[in-house]
Amino acid sequence: MKTTTIKLLALSALLLLGAAHAGAQQIKFKKFFTGGTLRIDCLREGDAQGDTVWVNRWIDRSATWHGSHTQLIDPIENGDYRVAMYDAKSGKMIYSRSYSNLFREYKGTAEGKTTKARFEETLLLPMPKNKVKIALQRREVESVPCSKGVTGVAVTFKNQTVVEFDPDKDELEFNYHIGERTDLELHGDPATKIDVAIVAQGYSGANDPQMRVDYYRMKEILFAQEPFKSHREDFNVYGVMADVDAEYNTFGIDRYLMTFSLWKLHDRLGTTPCDYIIVMVNNEKYGGGAIYNFYAVTSMHSMAEYVLPHEFGHAFGGLADEYVDEDLAYGDLHINDYEPLEPNITNLKAFGLKWKSMLPANTPIPTPDNNAVPKSECGPLGVYEGAGYSAKGVYRPTMHCMMRDYAPFCPVCMKRLEEIFGLYTK
Ligand SMILES: [Zn+2]
Ligand SMILES: [Zn+2]
Repeated sequence: MKTTTIKLLALSALLLLGAAHAGAQQIKFKKFFTGGTLRIDCLREGDAQGDTVWVNRWIDRSATWHGSHTQLIDPIENGDYRVAMYDAKSGKMIYSRSYSNLFREYKGTAEGKTTKARFEETLLLPMPKNKVKIALQRREVESVPCSKGVTGVAVTFKNQTVVEFDPDKDELEFNYHIGERTDLELHGDPATKIDVAIVAQGYSGANDPQMRVDYYRMKEILFAQEPFKSHREDFNVYGVMADVDAEYNTFGIDRYLMTFSLWKLHDRLGTTPCDYIIVMVNNEKYGGGAIYNFYAVTSMHSMAEYVLPHEFGHAFGGLADEYVDEDLAYGDLHINDYEPLEPNITNLKAFGLKWKSMLPANTPIPTPDNNAVPKSECGPLGVYEGAGYSAKGVYRPTMHCMMRDYAPFCPVCMKRLEEIFGLYTK
């Protein structure tokens, strides 16, 4: 058994090194891209048995690319899916971003086991100068022989759909629409800032005085929390009024406030620079939700001061929930033969890839609970059982964390969030 574990660890480590190496390659932005933004609207359809994805709309979104000009290959790859753009002539990967979709949770629900459903995706890509291939990819788990008689598990991106795009021949819808946008706080060139669009739902109109108050409330809530507080000048924040059908009771969970209308959301954003979207719902009832590399949703409940940084932790950092909720339909999401993607939980299948190197010497695994740690602190780093919805078999770094019970972000979550800043500000 021991050999298998070690081999598995070595294999996974190799996969990660491969990703880091790809990230280190410098892609010359001006050689491959015009400086504009290509938007593609996709549909993903499926159930627990599998899913397919296809492109529905091609849109010329903006004459400006608001993302980084240097971090073109995603070095973190924290999502279930990835969009990758390849130069058609050389076959070289010139852009990639990984992301998640609500479908991941849907397929774990009772309905998702038997009934297919469709989910919208909107991907923003740098506009290519020449013909490219765009691959929509999904992580797939496969058994891989490691050495004589030993099999490990590898999780790699495989193509689901590959489409060609030729900017000289293919027609694009044109959408240089400027939404009702308010610049809330600007610190510089969108290409080297994290652009956050706060989308206001449920207000009476562009002149609703409450909307302005709430925009500022949301913004100040985000910047009250570390690490966002120290990085305030790395952000630009915009407000956009747009009703986008965010609703409570997603997948039968009362507090789960989400929107399925991603295309409409992006239509309303128009040309607004946006790396991340926060949907602010004018409702006092507790609720929220988030999808990695897409958006976070929160209501105006008095707990928004905690809900927003927590949901932004999912959307921005790809962090997992560190709490236990075994009533959730998809509660066994992280009980697998391979490590969860998220950096802040482990099922000990390949713990060396997680926060093992950060642990003080002689830390017991699992680490016994220490109920003396107050909820305003994370407490000492360890490997505490109970995380990712499961009471058993999934572990978290500290007794308390923003991703568990609204304490400050734990050191493992903080480390990941700090890495993400580098993706946008270089
Ligand atoms: Zn959460
Ligand atoms: Zn944490």
